[in-house]
Amino acid sequence: MLHKSINGADDRYNVVVIGSGLGGLTSANRLARSGHSVLLLEHHHQLGGLATWFKRKGHIFDVSLHGFPHGMVKTCRKYWNRDIMESIVQLKNIVFDNPQFSLTTTFDRQDFTSILVNRFKISQATINDFFNTVASMNFYDDQSMSTRELFEKFFPGRDDVHRLLMEPITYANGSTLDDPAITYGIVFSNFMNKGVFTFRGGTDHLIGMMAKELVDNGVNICKNSKVDRIVIEAGKVRGVLVGDRFIEADSVVSNSGILNTIYDLAGKEFFPVEFLDKVKTVRVNTSSCQVYIGIKKEESIADIGDLLFVSTAEKFSSDELLDMHTRSRTFSLYYPKTRPDHNRYTVVASMNGKFDDWNRLNTNEYESEKQDMIDRTLVDLERYIPDVRQKIDWLEAATPKTIHRYTLHTKGTSFGTKFEGLDISRSIFKAIPGLFHVGSVGIIMSGWLGAINYGVIVANDVDGYIRSI
Ligand SMILES: Cc1cc2nc3c(=O)[nH]c(=O)nc-3n(C[C@H](O)[C@H](O)[C@H](O)COP(=O)(O)OP(=O)(O)OC[C@H]3O[C@@H](n4cnc5c(N)ncnc54)[C@H](O)[C@@H]3O)c2cc1C
Repeated sequence: MLHKSINGADDRYNVVVIGSGLGGLTSANRLARSGHSVLLLEHHHQLGGLATWFKRKGHIFDVSLHGFPHGMVKTCRKYWNRDIMESIVQLKNIVFDNPQFSLTTTFDRQDFTSILVNRFKISQATINDFFNTVASMNFYDDQSMSTRELFEKFFPGRDDVHRLLMEPITYANGSTLDDPAITYGIVFSNFMNKGVFTFRGGTDHLIGMMAKELVDNGVNICKNSKVDRIVIEAGKVRGVLVGDRFIEADSVVSNSGILNTIYDLAGKEFFPVEFLDKVKTVRVNTSSCQVYIGIKKEESIADIGDLLFVSTAEKFSSDELLDMHTRSRTFSLYYPKTRPDHNRYTVVASMNGKFDDWNRLNTNEYESEKQDMIDRTLVDLERYIPDVRQKIDWLEAATPKTIHRYTLHTKGTSFGTKFEGLDISRSIFKAIPGLFHVGSVGIIMSGWLGAINYGVIVANDVDGYIRSI
């Protein structure tokens, strides 16, 4: 049952899931399918978390539907349903344009190999060795090597190659050259498998299909329901508080940020000191800025590619990408083929961003920086669509503060935490029996594919726990 508020919920469940990001939705679905009673609580009026969309003047803007790896096909078939799987389609024109190179690619191993051999003059043997090395990286590997060291090992001094290999992954999971190479290798290899994919019909269509399946599987869903507290008694989970409404549960799965879960929802007084010492080392990942551009109903734009990684910065640097005034951005182009029933064109520009840069501004400075960001974005877009300004009838910007407001995540993080957060998320139930965490952590478990797969892993843990009590 889909309820508008907490009033529709029962008093007791096997599992309460806090938050309806892709991780929370997937855990809820798996647990309901396994026969458990599940309540899903979402503070927002819309499900999906960062997998979200909004409507303005007849436009539908997708916030995080820019591209995911082919692995989503299998994941959606196995853990959701065939209709969802069948809506996944490839984005074939991925464009790079920067002072070091301009090219179009399908962003898969075969095409990248040919580009690296023919344009960048790298030997076939080195490329094979590099691809095989990153493809064999796994979670249990030694994590001491950084991505910078990995690139220097295979392509010493070739910052043009580093840029080609790294720029899209920085946008895809917020990782930098100084993060462990594994956070790069796993995501990069996932994409190189078969390229970049999207969801035909848009995010609204996907989340609608997921909500239907949840309801069919018996999940109770309450929107506009912010959990204020996870109730812990005698060292284990008893339920949650939404305002003054207590709901009892054998277990709680929090899809809220890992630090929000520990500090704000559970309360640090309930955790062992050694666990908290580890929590203190967790760094949240960076956030994002976006500019949403709506094209008038009667206008169209030429096909300039699906995903454009553009930059006027001479060299690639993680700091430049994160700078408030970065000269690098990704344009996601949404042609009518994205939503075949909705004959409109939109463009979304995405930049990485830091919460503190935006949070320190007063109201006037904040509005003015947002306007400057929109202006810089249009100057860039005009290089690809010269007459675009006359075609636009909607412009709007989002900053890390916007992401924070909608998801409540610490510092508006787009991709959870750095690598050390994964261990905390995976071991939280050992500190407090019955308390589980799902959602973006450790860079690997983020992005649409990572979040859904992590949802499955956590659902298995919860299922085992409930059966053992
Ligand atoms: C700008 C941007 C672009 C992106 N682009 C891509 C992309 O192209 N491809 C890709 O694969 N990934 C992309 N991502 C990342 C991807 O969207 C996320 O990694 C993924 O959707 C996160 O899922 P999650 O399960 O961690 O939960 P989240 O989406 O973070 O959702 C958490 C949910 O919990 C809710 N919540 C929190 N606290 C409470 C509470 N106390 N009570 C009730 N509810 C609560 C929040 O409201 C939210 O709905 C992008 C992210 C951003 C920000």
